[in-house]
Amino acid sequence: MPVFDHPEFDHHQRIVFGSDEASGLRAIIAIHDTTRGPALGGLRIFPYASDAEALTDVLRLSRGMSYKSALADLPLGGGKAVIIADPRRHKTPELLRAMGRLVDSLGGAYITAEDSGSGEDDMRLIAEATEHVGGLPRHGQASGDPSPFTAWGVYCALRSAVRHRLGRDDLTGLRVAVQGVGHVGAHLARHLHAAGARLVLTDVDTAALAHLAEELGAETVAPGAIVDAEVDVFAPCALGAALSAEVVERLQATVVCGAANNQLATPEMAQRLQARGILYTPDYVANAGGVIEIAWQRRDDYSREAVMAHIEGIGATLGEIFARAEREGQSPAIVADDLARERFRPAG
Ligand code: NAD
Repeated sequence: MPVFDHPEFDHHQRIVFGSDEASGLRAIIAIHDTTRGPALGGLRIFPYASDAEALTDVLRLSRGMSYKSALADLPLGGGKAVIIADPRRHKTPELLRAMGRLVDSLGGAYITAEDSGSGEDDMRLIAEATEHVGGLPRHGQASGDPSPFTAWGVYCALRSAVRHRLGRDDLTGLRVAVQGVGHVGAHLARHLHAAGARLVLTDVDTAALAHLAEELGAETVAPGAIVDAEVDVFAPCALGAALSAEVVERLQATVVCGAANNQLATPEMAQRLQARGILYTPDYVANAGGVIEIAWQRRDDYSREAVMAHIEGIGATLGEIFARAEREGQSPAIVADDLARERFRPAG
C-alpha cells in the first residue's frame, strides 16, 4: 500500500496507523497540516472494504479540513481519523476508549470530533481517555447538532453569491431550489423563507418534504426535476457529487450555493459551471458553520453572538473569493483552494 506515492498524499505531516487487539480497533489518523494550529477533524467509523480504501478516505478528508479551517479563519489545521468497523455492530465502549488512547498518544496535534458513524455519546467515551476531543459542547445548549450553525453559514454564503452575481441584497422574490430538506436544508429553507425568497423544494423523503412545504407554503418537485426548476439559485443540500456534467448542462440557476460536501462530481465541473456563466460557491467555504462552532466550544469566551458573527464572516470571505475569481477569470473553486493554501502554507 503506497503512502508517499498515493494519489491523495499531499505532504501530510503525519499518518498514524493504530490497533488494539483486545477491542479490535483498527484506525488511521492523518494530520495534514498544523501550520495554523492543531489538526481538527471528525472521526469516521465505516466498514471499509480494505485498508487501502480507508487510507484514501483519511488522506482526502484530512487535507480538506486544512482548506476548510484556513478559509473559516480558524486557528486550526486539518486532520481526520477513520476506524475500519461497522458502527452498528462493532462500536463498543472498549473500542472507543482504545481510540481515545490513540488520539491521546499524539499529544494534542490531532483533535477529534463527530463525523459519519460517530456521535456525541461516542465522543464522551473517547474523552475518558483523552482531552483532545472537540465535538463535546462545553458552553450553551448541549444539542450536539451543528446543522443550525451550518445552515446559517450557507445562508450568509448564498447572500454573498447573490450580491455578487445578481447585484441584489434584498432576497424578496428570489427563486431558490433546495435539493434535500434534511437537517441543514430545512433550516436554510426557513431562513430563505423569512427573507422573502420563493422556494422550490425536493427530497426523497416525501413525508419530510410535504411537512416543510406546508409550513413554508413552498412548491415541491420530484427529486429528478429539481435541477430543471426555473430558479435563480440552486442549493444542493443532499448528497455529494450533485453537480455532474449532465446536471450542469440542465441547470436554470445562475448561482449554486448549498451545504453538501464535495458537490463537484469531478474538478472539471468548476470550469463547466464557469463556462455556462453559473457562479459556483465553493462548498467547504459555505458549509463551515459547524466547524466554526466546534472551534468556539474550545474557547473560554464562547458566546452564541460571537459564533454567529464569526459564521457571518463566511460572506465576506466569499466576497473576496468571487472578486478575485472575476479578476483572474477563474472559477471560485480554484481561487478558494489557492487562497486556502496561501493561508496554511504561506510562501517561505
Ligand atoms: P441529512 O441526512 O439530514 O439531510 C439530507 C437530506 O437529503 C435527507 O432529507 C435525504 O432524504 C435527502 N436526500 C438524499 N438523497 C436525495 C436525493 N437524491 N434528492 C433529494 N434529496 C435527497 O444531512 P444534513 O446534515 O442536512 O447534511 C446535508 C449535506 O450537507 C450533506 O452532504 C452533509 O455532508 C453536508 N454538511 C452537513 C453539515 C451539518 O452540519 N449537518 C456540515 C457540513 C456539511
